[in-house]
Amino acid sequence: MVKRVVFKEEHCKSCELCVWVCPKQIIRIRDELNALGYHPAFVSNDDQEQCISCAMCARMCPDAVIEVFK
Ligand code: SF4
Ligand code: SF4
Repeated sequence: MVKRVVFKEEHCKSCELCVWVCPKQIIRIRDELNALGYHPAFVSNDDQEQCISCAMCARMCPDAVIEVFK
């Protein structure tokens, strides 16, 4: 499985902008907290293949959490 989108979850502040902008609606929020005390965003391994590498999530993220691969 090749990951198309990777989240540096330790930097996420759970603003959910990426969740709302993703055209495939595959970004979800974890139940667990990161070290900053926020619920980080992620894309599950099963949903990675649905990612179209549009990078809208990465452009929207104010904390540079997301890296997108083509
Ligand atoms: S690159 Fe596009 S399709 Fe993939 S997770 Fe980000 S917004 Fe969604
Ligand atoms: S836009 Fe960035 S900081 Fe906001 S929830 Fe998504 S990954 Fe986290």
